[in-house]
Amino acid sequence: MAVEFKKLAHPKTGTAITVDARGELKVPDDPILLFIEGDGIGGDITSASLKVWNAAVEKAYGKKRKVSWMEVYAGEKAHAKYGEWLPEDTLAAFRHYRVGIKGPLTTPVGGGIRSLNVSLRQFLDLYACVRPVRYFKGTPSPVKKPELLDVTIYRENTEDVYAGIEWKEGSPEAKKLIDYINKELKKNIRLDSGIGIKPISITGTKRIARAALKHAVARKRRSVTFVHKGNIMKYTEGAFRDWGYELAKTEFRDQIVTEREWGVLDMRKKNAGQTPEELATTLRNDGWEPYTTDEIKAALALEKTHGGDKLKSKIKVNDRIADSTFQQMLLRPDEYDILCTPNLNGDYLSDACAAQVGGLGIAPGANIGDAIACFEATHGTAPKYAGLDRVNPGSLMLSGCMMFEYIGWEEVAKLIYGGIEKTIQQKRVTYDFERLMEGAPKLKCSEFAAAIVENL
Ligand code: NAP
Repeated sequence: MAVEFKKLAHPKTGTAITVDARGELKVPDDPILLFIEGDGIGGDITSASLKVWNAAVEKAYGKKRKVSWMEVYAGEKAHAKYGEWLPEDTLAAFRHYRVGIKGPLTTPVGGGIRSLNVSLRQFLDLYACVRPVRYFKGTPSPVKKPELLDVTIYRENTEDVYAGIEWKEGSPEAKKLIDYINKELKKNIRLDSGIGIKPISITGTKRIARAALKHAVARKRRSVTFVHKGNIMKYTEGAFRDWGYELAKTEFRDQIVTEREWGVLDMRKKNAGQTPEELATTLRNDGWEPYTTDEIKAALALEKTHGGDKLKSKIKVNDRIADSTFQQMLLRPDEYDILCTPNLNGDYLSDACAAQVGGLGIAPGANIGDAIACFEATHGTAPKYAGLDRVNPGSLMLSGCMMFEYIGWEEVAKLIYGGIEKTIQQKRVTYDFERLMEGAPKLKCSEFAAAIVENL
């Protein structure tokens, strides 16, 4: 074994997932997958989810495939075992075995760690926060047609004003920065301001855009939308949009068409004989923002590979201003597929979208880096329910589905999606859904899991 642990033992069964020369995962039929149980309700939801995951794997593949689960530690269990909240063993296990899932973790008070979740992301460089949002039939939702929303949000996880580079009002650092900016850069920041910094880099942007586009290609999605406030924050969010398009055009040219290229090629199909200048007028009359002749010519140069019937098979890459995206999600949700956002926009958008389908309590999530991934329940530890076998395990269970999709075991995820949907439609739900549904009996966490297994 390449890695030695202080207090963990390598599992006796199962094989490690590895990575090939192209950086792609190589998944054996008996992969070792890691789990961190989590604090508070973590024990309840992990044991319920493990039953469903194992039953679905067996149902999908019989004896041909099996997961070897390996428990690693963070939070209170880690503190009891190691005297540390996030031991090096856990990080080493993730670096070695690459894929795992975690329950919620308490934020230690006064422990020198701001947040265990943030630390885990930073230590493992899990730069993409991925949040799929879809509707499960039967779930109580605040909108008329929740089933129209089916998006996956790729939120940049390491940069933006969200990264926490900030100084308190009145601190020497804040004063120094304000003084420098006002004097040297001729700005006029109020002297009684707190200061936060918003870095957005080419590196950070391109890797999140690449991850979003790879997902779109692998899952045959129709579009990728860059969500930004580039109209106002031109050199950060505007640059995010520009670098996103640049990456899409250089690394995914065969598979993608930008929305404006699509406009030209689609109009060309309907107006075969028009010159570029005439096409510019036709597009303008059709409501498109003005095109230059050069832009039209560049799009027409793609006709051979992207034009005619081929246009339909290309992933459309576009961008939307963040505030308008919130409206679009409510008014025309079915026009969107993959949303790629800087850190803060993605934080707001993920929860707003999850709420729209009634799924805030069962929203799944993942933090993904280069061939390393940690899937996670998106809610907290709900300490008042710890050990009562009462809460909804849906968030962790569905994060498990994302994990199975990530390792290419799509069949397992499909079975669980079907099982959950059927169980909710039968109104066999935990307390949180029961209180929103008429005539639903209240199931325990473990009973809900057993009902899903029955319905796989
Ligand atoms: P929380 O643990 O998410 O709980 C807030 C409320 O959400 C609960 O009281 C409960 O609502 C509902 N809820 C949460 N999980 C549920 C589930 N599985 N099924 C049904 N209902 C569920 O948020 P918090 O009270 O703000 O945070 C508690 C601790 O968790 C803190 O230490 C925080 O730092 C930590 N936290 C960890 C993570 C993470 O590890 N990813 C994320 C967020 C917070 P009702 O009371 O209405 O029943």
